[in-house]
Amino acid sequence: MNLEAMTLERLKQGYRIKQFSVKEITTAYLDRIKRLDNKINAFIHLCEEEAVKEAKALDERIASGAEVGPLAGIPVAIKDNICTDGFKTTCASKMLGNFVPPYDATVVKQLKEAGAIVIGKTNMDEFAMGSSTENSAFKITRNPWNRDKVPGGSSGGSAAAVAAGFTPLAIGSDTGGSIRQPAAFCGVVGLKPTYGLVSRYGLIAFASSLDQIGPITKTVKDCAYSLEVITGKDPLDSTCYKGVVNRDYKEILEENIAGLKIGVPREFFQEGVDHEIQQAIKISIKKLEEMRVIVEEFSLPIMDIGLSTYRILSSAEASSNLARYDGIRYGYRSDNSADLEELIVNSRTEAFGKEVKRRIMLGTYVLSSSHYNNYYKKAAENRISIENMFKEALKKYDLIISPTTSQLPFNIGEKIAHSLEMHQSDIYTVFANITGIPAISIPCGFSQSRLPIGLQFMGSPFSEGKLLTVAHQLEERLTLQQQGLELEVREGCD
Ligand code: GLN
Repeated sequence: MNLEAMTLERLKQGYRIKQFSVKEITTAYLDRIKRLDNKINAFIHLCEEEAVKEAKALDERIASGAEVGPLAGIPVAIKDNICTDGFKTTCASKMLGNFVPPYDATVVKQLKEAGAIVIGKTNMDEFAMGSSTENSAFKITRNPWNRDKVPGGSSGGSAAAVAAGFTPLAIGSDTGGSIRQPAAFCGVVGLKPTYGLVSRYGLIAFASSLDQIGPITKTVKDCAYSLEVITGKDPLDSTCYKGVVNRDYKEILEENIAGLKIGVPREFFQEGVDHEIQQAIKISIKKLEEMRVIVEEFSLPIMDIGLSTYRILSSAEASSNLARYDGIRYGYRSDNSADLEELIVNSRTEAFGKEVKRRIMLGTYVLSSSHYNNYYKKAAENRISIENMFKEALKKYDLIISPTTSQLPFNIGEKIAHSLEMHQSDIYTVFANITGIPAISIPCGFSQSRLPIGLQFMGSPFSEGKLLTVAHQLEERLTLQQQGLELEVREGCD
């Protein structure tokens, strides 16, 4: 069975015609992971026994003619900051190294109810802070297209797992780009839904006003299938959208897109963007025009405030969210402390990694009474200006197109000591989090050095349907050209 090229859609078809059983598929994926993940390090833990047990039970239910859910028998990998009942959820941190949640996050519950089989937990940057998955306390994940390169981050384990054919579906979280940037680096599809469309209950918080959970898949259609399952109201998350959303995403994927208007923000294509990325986006724009989509350049003068606004808001929220890990109420406890204060200090010093400490310090600083007005308040004001500019632009355009990243996947070790350079990875992705709008990254080509290139579409709140439809139709046009190269590179990976 060729798991590398396997999609969720093909698996569903195979089950329908009884080509294979759920147990066969589940064990085939687990075997592949056990055989190859020592080269990639996409997973922190596998849920092998449980997964096989679930698979057997599902086969029995199918044999008895019982009705099964829309993701019946689909293996899914979950980022290790999303709670899984009875399975370690570590956030790739020593702080939560032994944490076993007594409950499932809402998305995990929804996936299980839909019949998906949780096969393991994926590696990530500690507490989702980073762009390369090098900040994990446990291991460094490698990019399946070129193992000297990073897979992106912070959901690097999830993106690498899909790219390497370890699972057809992985779940990530995106606070400033952590689903889309690794999706772009690994040549897969990643969606950050509208804020509130997917429940955050059971997602260990980084920055609560920016965090969203979303799917990572091989194709846009697979993304639509999975999004349908994980959306919906949740009384356990007060920020979850309570209105009605049409979530029959896959039904509209073939709708006519001729006449839609797509805006190209001029400022997103200025200095610093890799030449090959610019070229790939231009080709995609041409394809869209061939489909009679109207593509127009316009000005969106926000590039100079995006990253700083994101950095201040996310660090401020992180410093508050991470205050609970004191070794008493939550998390790792240092065992050689003389008094209470020392216990808290030692526990936090020993268990948090460098990047997490940097963010806590920055966050505490920008929230301190003497600096609040200059930093946090200013960033909150900037957030409103950015929101207004996007609102205006999205009145004029159905979608906005941009590169997902300005650079190709970089070498492992290349940027880890240069925090500011690393932060540049999020230059195009942070806006969707600051404003709460949905955004998707799809593969749109390869560099000469055979590294994947990602393209991003952003849309108005709750326009996931439109986003997926345009992305799907563009993907169909583009894959034809890529197929040959893709197979060649993947074989090299084994
Ligand atoms: N790379 C960004 C950061 O380090 C985004 C992280 C994320 O989306 N979780 O803050």
